[in-house]
Amino acid sequence: MNATGFPLDESGMWREIRVPSADASLRPVLFIDRDGTLIELVDYLSSPDDVRPIAEAVALTARARAMDMPTVMVTNQSGIGRGYYGWRDFAAVQQAVIAAVAAGGGRIDAVYACPALPDSGAACRKPNPGMLLAAADDLALDLRHSWIVGDTAGDMAAGAGAGLRRGWLVATGYGVEERGDALALRGPGFDVTVDRPLRELADLLSGLSNA
Ligand SMILES: [Mg+2]
Repeated sequence: MNATGFPLDESGMWREIRVPSADASLRPVLFIDRDGTLIELVDYLSSPDDVRPIAEAVALTARARAMDMPTVMVTNQSGIGRGYYGWRDFAAVQQAVIAAVAAGGGRIDAVYACPALPDSGAACRKPNPGMLLAAADDLALDLRHSWIVGDTAGDMAAGAGAGLRRGWLVATGYGVEERGDALALRGPGFDVTVDRPLRELADLLSGLSNA
């Protein structure tokens, strides 16, 4: 916290640990984008009344929770940098999102939000990996075995840049039109999955935790 009453760090990024790590051993996590992935895409969403959770994504967070895999939200919020809405509005929206996730049996363990503009070059703004790297600093994360779920190639690129194992492009939000750009990010150390239902990712994660 700082003088604003919101959990902003010195760079101006929202950096909120909701559930601290129980131990120091490195854990894989599920990074998840918010707009277009966890909730329906609304341009410059600023009102909790416009929060419409995406059931499959909420169910995924419940599966992650059931297997003790933390879920970390990473969201670009340039509407704040543009002055369209403020952190108070963001906080109100977040309350609705987190309540919807909890109602579905899931949990958001930490939240990172970047207010920077697209052309700012800010480290926190996806496709840059700054929010994921900040999470790795704050929580004991095994980035190499972590995943990111999102609806844009920028989400996938942030995952690749942070050294994650794999990205999963959803078909909601911008997901369908971003497929080509997302697939182009496939490389030797980073796999990208498109066109598959999210419940398959939940099954995959369960398989990993049982392995
Ligand atoms: Mg998105």
